[in-house]
Amino acid sequence: MTTVVCNHCEHTTARVADWVKNRIKPEQIEKYLDHGRCFIDTAAIEQALKANGKPDPRRVRDILQKSLAIETLTPEETVCLIHVEDPELLAEMRQAAQAVKVRVYDNRIVTFAPLYLGNLCVNNCAYCGFRSSNHSEQRRVLSLDEVRREIEVLAGQIGHKRLIVVYGEHPATDVHYIASTLRTIADVKVKTRCGWGQIRRCNVNAAPMSVEELAVLNEAGIGTFQVFQETYHRPTYERLHPAGTIKGNYLWRLYAMHRAMEAGIDDVGIGPLLGLYDWRFEVMALVYHAIELEKKFGIGPHTISFPRIEPAHNTPLAQHPEYAVDDDEFKKLVTVIRLAVPYTGMILTARENARLRREVLPLGCTQTDASSRIGIGAYADLADGDQQGDRQQFLLGDTRSLDTVVRELAEAGCITSFCTAGYRCGRTGQKIMGLLRSGKEGRFCKLNAVITFREWLDDFGSPETIAAGEKVIAEEIRQVREKMPEIFDQFMRYYDKTQAGDRDLYF
Ligand code: SF4
Repeated sequence: MTTVVCNHCEHTTARVADWVKNRIKPEQIEKYLDHGRCFIDTAAIEQALKANGKPDPRRVRDILQKSLAIETLTPEETVCLIHVEDPELLAEMRQAAQAVKVRVYDNRIVTFAPLYLGNLCVNNCAYCGFRSSNHSEQRRVLSLDEVRREIEVLAGQIGHKRLIVVYGEHPATDVHYIASTLRTIADVKVKTRCGWGQIRRCNVNAAPMSVEELAVLNEAGIGTFQVFQETYHRPTYERLHPAGTIKGNYLWRLYAMHRAMEAGIDDVGIGPLLGLYDWRFEVMALVYHAIELEKKFGIGPHTISFPRIEPAHNTPLAQHPEYAVDDDEFKKLVTVIRLAVPYTGMILTARENARLRREVLPLGCTQTDASSRIGIGAYADLADGDQQGDRQQFLLGDTRSLDTVVRELAEAGCITSFCTAGYRCGRTGQKIMGLLRSGKEGRFCKLNAVITFREWLDDFGSPETIAAGEKVIAEEIRQVREKMPEIFDQFMRYYDKTQAGDRDLYF
């Protein structure tokens, strides 16, 4: 057991060590194993990646048809796409990826903001600015009053409705703290230019938990539960996450989503941290993970993220990752994920710079963040665009404002959706999977995207963004009239009420 020192909160070293000792419940790993084996077979994936030669174009095109039918690809089909190098075939793959995205999610991009609530962590991951051995990091956990101040900026000044809240693994930010912060966030309502603002959906990125703790989280009201495996390659995982730390247990993390499903949380988000190991391996493992969740629970991942390692304060490994993914590889892996798991939401974050985000979003991404500040307390403390390395897990590549990003998307014909209706109407888990595969979810989403976009433009948009946004809205209204005449009148009633200052109307 490594020594756990906590100089940053009221927890004594002995209490922290005690907490760490009792975190992992072996029986909550073993019950999900198949004949004692986990669903990631490292040797088999490596063998598949080595064995596949130059793919037959006819086979590739057959696979693309399967993606376009919104069916999950097999690992064998995925490896075939990974091996495509021919520029023409790659262009066909990108086209198919875009078509899949439009079929399932139309021209909508959902937006959200990250909110980091604490950077105390008992783990010591070699690539992370929050690791316990990084003594130059300024540690802090927000009080509930400080959480309120962050939300006043996010919901009252920027206009976000959806957050991903992020916590380190530490007794000071345990499940009870998380549940209190979720309730606090939900309670804040802020007056805006024409109505009021509020956070309506909180997705949570936190350490793996037991089924009992996840049930507490579910009860508190959670959107998606995200746990990233970081790397699915077990030897690399074990090298980067010291033995004796909680995170050093590969299987506890790998089965985090099985426990979430068992606890009733059926929207889960998975992802690797790109740069720790070969991206081809990670993409194959993601597909295995999606298939495993579909097989065991009938529900695949609600979202897949694909963050690349970014520089972090006093963290050499993050400056020079061993398996750095270049921009071309990044575009290819996003394309392959879109095709392999066609129903899933795909999250592109402000880690990436503005130019790359412009190029990668159209390859099938469905969610992105803007006006992001990832320092602890940074929304209340810092100006838009500022960063403070020693209070952040890493540095962002794109600090543009939400207004700028919304305008850019509108000029490209995309509607920024602030919709959070899905989980509040019970459209989660198996229900949402069915709706997404059949393209029916788009019906609700289209209506709710227009109404929430109108709301945001009226409350927060600059004159230029309102002008660009209204062109998109006009086209959306035309499509609703044409394609959904039976609901058009009710939709317009909601739209008009929203323009008059009513808020949070949805289908
Ligand atoms: S990656 Fe997560 S678990 Fe690891 S040190 Fe950073 S905050 Fe802690």
